[in-house]
Order: sequence, then structure tokens, then C-alpha cells
Amino acid sequence: MKRLLLAPLALTLAACGAQPPPPPPPPAAPAGPSEAEVASTILGCEYTVGGAPEALAKHTLPATPCWTNKYVDRVDENVRYFALDGLMADHGLSRLAAVELQNHYRDLMRADPKRDRGQAFATALERAKKGEFESGVDPQVMAAAKFVVVFDLDETFYDQRTATAACSDAAFEYQSGGETKTKYIKMAPGWQAAVARIRELGGQVVLFSANLDDRTLLNLSKIMLDGQPLTESPAIAGIMTNSFLTQQSKTAPPGSAEAPYKGQPIFEPSKDLRHFDPALKKVVLVDDNPLRFFQFRNTRTFQKFHADELCGAADPELRAAYEGMLPAVVAEVEESVAWMDQNPGAGFATAYLPYSDLGQVALRFLMDTRQWDAAQARAYVRAHPDVVSAKF
Ligand SMILES: [Mg+2]
Repeated sequence: MKRLLLAPLALTLAACGAQPPPPPPPPAAPAGPSEAEVASTILGCEYTVGGAPEALAKHTLPATPCWTNKYVDRVDENVRYFALDGLMADHGLSRLAAVELQNHYRDLMRADPKRDRGQAFATALERAKKGEFESGVDPQVMAAAKFVVVFDLDETFYDQRTATAACSDAAFEYQSGGETKTKYIKMAPGWQAAVARIRELGGQVVLFSANLDDRTLLNLSKIMLDGQPLTESPAIAGIMTNSFLTQQSKTAPPGSAEAPYKGQPIFEPSKDLRHFDPALKKVVLVDDNPLRFFQFRNTRTFQKFHADELCGAADPELRAAYEGMLPAVVAEVEESVAWMDQNPGAGFATAYLPYSDLGQVALRFLMDTRQWDAAQARAYVRAHPDVVSAKF
């Protein structure tokens, strides 16, 4: 600490003892007028976005510095995170339509990185307004569903990292760096029954992966359910991938429903469950990675599913545990739906609250202090949902 304080002092002393050198000449002005830089003040933060027309810059969140992102080495102007609240306020979009705009914009720029960005934004906006949703999520289907279960893919619904020819449910050849490689995917045991049972109970199933768009869709196109690839299966109510992850400012823009709102900023690109259920009354996410979500009353952290641990388990107890992972979630859903049916008016999120990440904290708090069993604690949590914190 002392050394940190001394450094500026030494600089000040040196500056006092000598004439400062003349200032360097100003850099040459950039040629021609701009597309160069548009400075904006939105969301209570000042920032500058290079090379973007104002309509686009206004709705772009400033890129987080490279050191915060292990997946990129430079800021790619074409991979933008949009301020969805601002898009919703300015263009009358739902949150789902706004994130579809972000996805369309990225698709357009990926297809042609030299494309005019303002034009890409206008096209993406037009598509979103027309309800062209690549995710396949239908707001009416979501609204009519009794409940919605969103499954993460990698290390939750399937494992593509440690699957092998001997331990896989799908295998196919693909191109990578000019080479032909074979991809193996192992599904979490019981996945088909899980989808079927959730739908039988009146729920909808959505898949949401943080992994890259094209790779994820290719994987899902090779996994069959009832004779159809998952990308075309009527049992799957939507598929979201990397371009649907969102960031969020701590401040909502003027005019939006939340303004003036100062809350927790979301800087890790994350899965926002409001796309499926704006009020978060009936949606839950099952995911192994809590770094990619933030609505902890509606999330259920899943033990990481690894194909090698399932297939290679020497201990039959451990193998049985891996085989029981998804069936355990289905049992929770069944128990929650049964409670919901006896308590009309209470939404699925409240019914499932005891199994959510924040609900589990409250459950343990009650069991530790009251010597209650899990059923007693669950009943209390459902009757007094405010005992579960709103956020971490
Ligand atoms: Mg995962």
C-alpha cells in the first residue's frame, strides 16, 4: 500500500523541479466526416462506439474490456450486445423480439462482416417487428403453457466434450479447420422421458445454450427424438444459442417500463428467462453453470453431466446417480405440478421455488433451524415465498 502512495508523490516532485517538455503536436484529424465515432450517453453511462451509425450506437451496450472475456482477444464490433430495454422502449418490441433483433443483427454481420451496420440494424429491426424469430419461440405458446422448463445443453442435457464412440447417442462428421472430424454426443440419461413427461404435464420445453449458434444447431440437427431431429421436433418449443445471451446495464433508459431503475448490471452474457415469461411466474431453467444466469429464484443448478464419468464410473452408486440426474428433476417438476394443481392461482415458479437455487438456501435455513424435514420446509417456502430472497 505504501509503495502505491509513494509513486504519484515522486512524479509530482519531479514535475516541480524541471520545466515540462512542450506538448506533442495534436494528431492529424481523421480524413473526411464520420461514421468514425459516435459518442452517446445512454443508460446513465457515457461511452463511445466506433464505426456505428447513431441509431445502432444508441442501443449498443459498450463492449466489456477483453480482459473480462476469456473467449475473445479483441472487441469485435459485429458481435454486439444490445440494450434490450432501450430497444423495447423506442420500438415497442417485446423482450423476446428485442433479443431476436440482436440475433438477426449478428447473423447478418457474420454472413457479411463488411456490410453497412446501419442497414443491418434496420433489417434486423424489421425482421424482429415482423415476428421472424429464429429461436422458434412463439409468445402465444409460451403464454398458454402451464409452465416452461428451459434446459441448458453442454454438461446438462448432453455432453460433447468427453463423449466417445463407445459412449454416445449421436455421432457425425463435421469440418473443422479444413479437416474432417467426428463429433460424439452423449445425452443425459432419461432425456426423452423428461421431455415427454414435462409436455404431458402441460409444460413446454425450451433449449438454451451459450455455445456458438451454428455448432449448437448442427448438434441438435443430428439428435433424433421420435424420428425427428431436435431442430424440427414439435416437442421442443424453442432453441436459443450464443447470440441470444444478454447483458444489461444497471440503469434502464428513460421511457422503458423499468425506468428509472438502478439494479444489478449483468456483464457476463447470460440467459434471461424473461424472453419466455416476462413476469417469471412459470419458467425455470435447469443449468450446470450459474455464471450464465442471474434469476436465481427460477433456476435449478444441475450437477455437471460428463459422459466419461457416467460410462466410466467404476462405482455403481455413482453411475446410478448420473443415471438419475434428469429423472430427479422430472420428479421435482411432478411434485411441483401436483402442488400447483391443489393451489390454483399459484404459479409454477412458486411451486418449484423449493428446488430453485435461492429456494434451496431458504430450505436449508429452515431445516437447520427448525429440525424440519424437506417436506415441511417445502410447504413453508410455498406458503411464504417471501422467505426466499429476491436475489443473491
Ligand atoms: Mg452447461
